[in-house]
Amino acid sequence: MSAAVKDLKIAIIGAGMGGLTSALALARQGFKNIDVYEYAVDLGFVGAGIQLAPNMARVLDGLDAWKEIEAEAVHIDDTSVRVGADDSELAHVKLEYIKGEYGYPHMVGHRHSLASGLYNGCKKESAIKFHFSTGAEDVDLSDATKPSFKAVPRDGGEPYVVRPDILLGADGIKSKTRVELLERLGVQVGVKDTNQAAYRIMIHKDQCKDDPELLALISGNRVTRWIGEKRHIIAYPVSNNTIYNLSTTQPDTNFAAATNATYTTKGSKPAMLGVFADFCPMVQRMLNYVPDGEVCEWKLRVHEPLPTWVYHSVALVGDACHPTLPHLAQGAAQAIEDGAVLAIALARLPDTTPESINKGLRVYEKIRKGRAEALVELAAASGRALHLGEGAAKEERDRQFAALKAGKGPVPDKWADADVQREIYGFDCTKVAEESFDELFAQL
Ligand SMILES: Cc1cc2nc3c(=O)[nH]c(=O)nc-3n(C[C@H](O)[C@H](O)[C@H](O)COP(=O)(O)OP(=O)(O)OC[C@H]3O[C@@H](n4cnc5c(N)ncnc54)[C@H](O)[C@@H]3O)c2cc1C
Repeated sequence: MSAAVKDLKIAIIGAGMGGLTSALALARQGFKNIDVYEYAVDLGFVGAGIQLAPNMARVLDGLDAWKEIEAEAVHIDDTSVRVGADDSELAHVKLEYIKGEYGYPHMVGHRHSLASGLYNGCKKESAIKFHFSTGAEDVDLSDATKPSFKAVPRDGGEPYVVRPDILLGADGIKSKTRVELLERLGVQVGVKDTNQAAYRIMIHKDQCKDDPELLALISGNRVTRWIGEKRHIIAYPVSNNTIYNLSTTQPDTNFAAATNATYTTKGSKPAMLGVFADFCPMVQRMLNYVPDGEVCEWKLRVHEPLPTWVYHSVALVGDACHPTLPHLAQGAAQAIEDGAVLAIALARLPDTTPESINKGLRVYEKIRKGRAEALVELAAASGRALHLGEGAAKEERDRQFAALKAGKGPVPDKWADADVQREIYGFDCTKVAEESFDELFAQL
């Protein structure tokens, strides 16, 4: 392999899960010049939980970043899908088999642990340089061989132009890199409103020391989903069972009127309680633990599949190219798979010509695009099934839940379905990339 390949200058916009994994995986492959530009002052830790599925754990372990994350995570033994209104159980699915089948248990954790595990891994690599508090503006792809953008320090420092050999746009759902890339291609793929929004809530153990029911949930190893028409709540313990994390999905009424670019906002507690007013007392109690002024609501947006993720020596990563509804808990996992595959594809370039770089990035796209987009579609379908109102479709869904209780069958909550898990967790993206690179590269 040409030594010069590892000297290529790689700029990454965004230090979310996609950008951090790309940086770490590239450094582990021996790349020496990796610069990460992040608008936020630091990793901007969001107080929320995240599911750490086996396909994510496998990649992180391969990058030596898993042990630290795992130390604070909670093993999930089973999941319970319940009727929001009366807390009756629709389905109970055991998940202990996952470790034996896929090498890693299904785990859940705090976003802070995941981001810091990746960041701490990056900090050990001298090849990676972080530029926090620095916005990437005026992304310019007019020169096919040298993409550029203006790095604008937020502390008032002098803006400067960055011209890397390879530009990775890991800049999330509002990606400026995607906008410029699509403009160059002359295509329009707008961000699509899903008409859904999410509250994210964390309840600390010491807040509910006199609430045995909630204490049992915090101390347990279960993911619980309470479902109702057009709404549901998913909840699980994180941070070594010291915090109970809730994430809701509901019709987006609070943002509906807003046409600006706001995706998250402080929500109103009475409005949140109103959305779940007909859910059972247990749920009401949990929601009531949230202090006034600490309700945070997210707007959930996606976009249609893009025609491509790659333009010359530029590639998109994570939510910039495949934002998803959270119902399969795979958004970050897929961004992490992107980073791992990108690094393998770039490390195997035969030379540093623009043609080879572009071909290498297109191999990345070939391995990743179909899979990520299929999971986006499946997450949306699973959400539709969970949110059904009265009618034939709901009756059929509940018949499937009942059949599941009696024996076997598909789980309408696709996240808990063994066939879906095989498709998602059984896919070793690193192995696939390593084994198929040569053949795919030769085909282009
Ligand atoms: C309610 C909810 C629950 C979820 N649960 C799960 C789950 O359980 N499991 C899971 O795997 N996924 C989950 N996800 C999805 C997951 O959070 C996202 O898919 C993932 O974080 C995307 O990572 P990313 O790095 O692509 O983008 P982001 O995390 O959005 O990171 C993009 C980064 O780029 C920076 N940036 C943007 N523009 C610029 C610029 N111009 N200059 C400099 N910096 C810039 C931003 O500041 C940001 O830090 C959930 C999502 C939601 C909304």
